[in-house]
Amino acid sequence: MSSNTLQGGGYGTKSTTRDNFESPDFYQLDDLLNEEQKLIRSSMRDFVKLEITPFIEDWCQKAEFPEAMVKKFGEIGAFGPTIPLKYGGGGLDYISYGLIMQEIERGDSGMRSTASVQGSLVMYPIYAFGSEAQKQKYLPKLASGEILGCFGLTEPDHGSNPAGMTTHFADSGDHFLLNGSKMWISNAPKADIAVVWAKDEHGRVHGLIVERGMEGFTTPETHGKWSLRASCTGELVFNNVRVPKENLLPGKDGLGAPLMCLDSARYGIAWGSIGAAMDCYHSARQYALERIQFDKPIASFQLVQKKLAEMLTEITKAQLLNLRLGRLMDQHKATTAQISLAKRNNVAVALEIAREARQIHGGMGITGDYSIMRHMMNLESVITYEGTHDIHLLILGHEITGIPAFS
Ligand SMILES: Cc1cc2nc3c(=O)[nH]c(=O)nc-3n(C[C@H](O)[C@H](O)[C@H](O)COP(=O)(O)OP(=O)(O)OC[C@H]3O[C@@H](n4cnc5c(N)ncnc54)[C@H](O)[C@@H]3O)c2cc1C
Repeated sequence: MSSNTLQGGGYGTKSTTRDNFESPDFYQLDDLLNEEQKLIRSSMRDFVKLEITPFIEDWCQKAEFPEAMVKKFGEIGAFGPTIPLKYGGGGLDYISYGLIMQEIERGDSGMRSTASVQGSLVMYPIYAFGSEAQKQKYLPKLASGEILGCFGLTEPDHGSNPAGMTTHFADSGDHFLLNGSKMWISNAPKADIAVVWAKDEHGRVHGLIVERGMEGFTTPETHGKWSLRASCTGELVFNNVRVPKENLLPGKDGLGAPLMCLDSARYGIAWGSIGAAMDCYHSARQYALERIQFDKPIASFQLVQKKLAEMLTEITKAQLLNLRLGRLMDQHKATTAQISLAKRNNVAVALEIAREARQIHGGMGITGDYSIMRHMMNLESVITYEGTHDIHLLILGHEITGIPAFS
């Protein structure tokens, strides 16, 4: 695009049709990645440029979940990258997993949500807490995208406080009888299976695999979202659903089980959100260099340079955080509080960068010709789900003081 394109009547060129994204690497962090990790990142980046960025604006404008992406994500290895190869996963390390999430969310947070839920919130609990038969039955199909899963923890009256959940099941001979409902569940309207967290007769939380088609199980879609519009969201409603006993996850009970899944997903969000931030920074820098006002590129004004310099600073700090956290994850040493810090910081930083990038794009920043406003709106969900910004602060407060301030 010539610089003239952005002057006067030249607003028409769509940035979304010319995806020349390159990630900033101000501290030469690529030197800390191995060849396999760099290859995985570049394959995912090519995949996103080919399969997501040319279409995402349209999907979001229409609030359409692109179902065909499920199979494509399976083929490229975006589902369950850290799950062992023998179950269809990628057998990769956590840095590779992070890079995959970063690249997908660079395209769109809703698309990353689909992949995160399938990998961290459906495959992970089945892998970590499931029986061998459950792993054999579900994991290869989830990995390949033959089936889609969802994760039901949040309820209409219990969001930040999942311990208060009322969804429950009772022993009814050769099966369990499940009743209750879940809300705000990503993938729910299209999911073939749901990993559902519910209390037994003693009030103990367990995971159950509920399959579409079981009588009394419905998944009404949530409409009217201004955020994550290419991701489908819905409820899970259980009305005397007969769940076979072999569908209970036998490996772990208690609230710690779903919270372990959330650790893995939140780690992916820490990387993913910086993908969105890098896309905003890349677009803002390019726009600032091309857009002429007062006979100069707006990039020549100090106030615009300040915005860009602060964006790059925060992106670089977040990249360093992610890399170190990834190493800790690979060594099984990362704590919930460390993951909370990274999720909380990186999403907040990404949202701020999206807002600043929106300013740099002027009026064009509110249109679908650029990815900025979409990222900004998406990140409003990302800062709320998997633990709100404030709940992560309280997790850190608990870690620092030893005093829980949740209730
Ligand atoms: C698009 C989208 C997709 C989602 N996908 C899933 C999914 O796949 N599966 C799933 O189970 N859930 C999902 N969620 C739910 C999400 O995790 C919850 O929205 C989140 O945990 C917050 O719960 P809530 O919305 O009920 O807010 P609330 O818990 O009602 O919180 C409202 C406000 O009160 C604050 N607050 C609450 N308690 C405290 C406290 N003790 N101290 C200080 N402040 C407090 C919160 O920080 C927040 O600002 C999704 C949500 C969205 C928006």
